Amino acid sequence: MLNPPIYDNCDVAIIGAGPAGLAAAIRLKKLGIENVLVLDRESEPGGIPRHCGHPPFGMLEFARVMRGPSYARRLVGEARRAGVGISVRTSVTMLGAGGGLTIASPQGNGELTAKRVLLSTGVRETPQSARLMSGARMLGICTTGALQAMVYLKGLIPFRRPVIVGTETVAFSALLTCKKAGIKPVAMIEGKSCPGTRWPFHNASRLLGVPLFVETRITKIIGGNRIEAIKIIDGKGNARELACDGLLFTGQFTPESSLVRMSHLLFDHETGSPVIDPFGRCSDSAYFAAGNLLQPLKMAMNCWREGRKTAQWIAKDIAGSLPDRQ
Ligand SMILES: Cc1cc2nc3c(=O)[nH]c(=O)nc-3n(C[C@H](O)[C@H](O)[C@H](O)COP(=O)(O)OP(=O)(O)OC[C@H]3O[C@@H](n4cnc5c(N)ncnc54)[C@H](O)[C@@H]3O)c2cc1C
Repeated sequence: MLNPPIYDNCDVAIIGAGPAGLAAAIRLKKLGIENVLVLDRESEPGGIPRHCGHPPFGMLEFARVMRGPSYARRLVGEARRAGVGISVRTSVTMLGAGGGLTIASPQGNGELTAKRVLLSTGVRETPQSARLMSGARMLGICTTGALQAMVYLKGLIPFRRPVIVGTETVAFSALLTCKKAGIKPVAMIEGKSCPGTRWPFHNASRLLGVPLFVETRITKIIGGNRIEAIKIIDGKGNARELACDGLLFTGQFTPESSLVRMSHLLFDHETGSPVIDPFGRCSDSAYFAAGNLLQPLKMAMNCWREGRKTAQWIAKDIAGSLPDRQ
């Protein structure tokens, strides 16, 4: 049997290389913490902005309006220059008491111990199955995150005439992605009586010529290997069929908290996030949390700000000057 790989122990391990994790890592280095290691399961660091090829990012952080990928590159560059260690293709699979982490990477499985751990694992969108929407898994059905990864990272076009489900802000980000990729959505549908986002976003569908159906839900998904149409019904009971070759589920974000659920940390079943104290500290005081994991879905700058703030508390805690957990 091969020996398991040995991962270096560190002062602070950060799980998730999105805006919250990277901002925290940079701040910790600036505060004099020596070994700061960011772990991410993706092949590149940067988190969600890496595949959001649209603005606005960076207004607070860099005083300019940026697209997601350049924003992510800039944060990663800053982290590397500050001396942060970044390990990609590295999934944390278990959280142990006192900062012991179990890790899986192409080198194999292993363990590392950190004096403090920051959880910044972000969020995930609710896919078809978790929305309890019956039907086979046909080609052409995905979430905004998957669409953006295909379009911006792989140059793939999963459909040409999708229906977009949901009207949270992220649905309008999906509209922009469709426009960039030459995809022409057939319609947007929303279960509630008005769009889930405020001005100016809710006008975007009209401006882009995409009809918006409110108080409408899907009753059937039709197709074989690939989706061909959906049946919808509105609040007055009017049913109709919409031909389409894709179905894009947007929003309904939930914290990416699988690790926390499986761990010894106290978990808040209402919010889906770890329980924290006013310093962002979890029930095991070796662990802290920041970013969208604590409250989906914030803008990147808010996660960045929260990451920096939590880094200050972590540094204070390591120095022994943070009040004990009550
Ligand atoms: C489609 C879409 C469009 C958006 N557009 C905008 C916009 O235009 N402007 C804006 O300001 N914000 C936008 N946002 C929001 C913004 O992207 C997020 O607020 C921000 O990325 C959250 O940062 P985070 O660090 O909390 O998490 P994330 O950026 O989600 O990063 C979390 C990281 O954790 C990693 N991870 C998770 N679990 C593990 C594990 N077990 N082991 C190792 N790594 C793990 C993931 O791979 C990921 O890289 C958008 C979000 C979405 C989904």
